[in-house]
Amino acid sequence: MNRRIFLGLTTALALLPLQAFAQDKLPVVASFSILGDMVSEVGGDRVAVTMLVDLDGDAHVYSPTPADAQTVAAAQVVVVNGLGFEGWLDRLIEASEYAGPVIVATAGIKGLEMAEEGHEAHAEDEAHAHDEVKAEGADHGHDDHGAIDPHAWQSLANARLYVANIEAGLTAADPEGANTYAANAAAYLAEIDAAEADIKAAVAALPENRRSVVTSHDAFGYYAAAYGMTFHAPEGLSTESEVSAADVAALITQMKAEAIPAVFMENITDGRLLEQITSETGAKIGGTLFSDALSGPDGPASTYLNMMRHNTTTLTTALGE
Ligand SMILES: [Zn+2]
Repeated sequence: MNRRIFLGLTTALALLPLQAFAQDKLPVVASFSILGDMVSEVGGDRVAVTMLVDLDGDAHVYSPTPADAQTVAAAQVVVVNGLGFEGWLDRLIEASEYAGPVIVATAGIKGLEMAEEGHEAHAEDEAHAHDEVKAEGADHGHDDHGAIDPHAWQSLANARLYVANIEAGLTAADPEGANTYAANAAAYLAEIDAAEADIKAAVAALPENRRSVVTSHDAFGYYAAAYGMTFHAPEGLSTESEVSAADVAALITQMKAEAIPAVFMENITDGRLLEQITSETGAKIGGTLFSDALSGPDGPASTYLNMMRHNTTTLTTALGE
């Protein structure tokens, strides 16, 4: 009898970790904060999301740590942006020996191709950009010259595809949560619809000659194409590139010629170059845009949708004056 109790106890103890694990949340790693927020919205209480690049961090120039490899190794799902955004990710996954699913949130999204000339993005480029992607392929996706723009989240239409990809990926990894993920995604998509309507209306209210601005790097091509604005930047699609004096001089000439009224700082980049540009052009500093990362919970971009609304309010307030 004693022996039987002992056996029963050891069986129960042996099962404990497994049961605790089964009841635990699905461990999901997201490469950066904007994606992390979207995964949290879709996953809700069923997932525990860890992000690799921190709040206000720059994913373009991120260097993964040994702790990141451990985090990825412990994940059951990894969610990435794709379109060449996380150039460091493949090596990290290899180092971690992670063998689970990798959800590419931009799957199915046609990447905009950014022409190198002039570092600018505007609505009219979109159809042309798609042609170039088809004609030349995506081989140059990691290169700054004629590169694919990875910042697809800057359009709410694209965000719907991010949500669909995340929902499909979480459901495949955790089929029991299918109904929860579907309901969360539907509720989130309704919020995306509302934000999109507000942003379109806010930009549409700007006069045509007040829709051209300067930012640090070319993070807003999709926003420009979706909502009808033009963004110029001294840096290209990635913050890795060096800005030449000739690039800055060309930008200043263009700003004067087009009477571009405002420049906007970014939360992930150093604003000193932009301050120099404003001093030479008379353009004003319109505020800070959140391009590639969220703010902390008390900041203006605590969630993806808060970020999109904050950026739009910052742009339209400065340009509407
Ligand atoms: Zn960027």
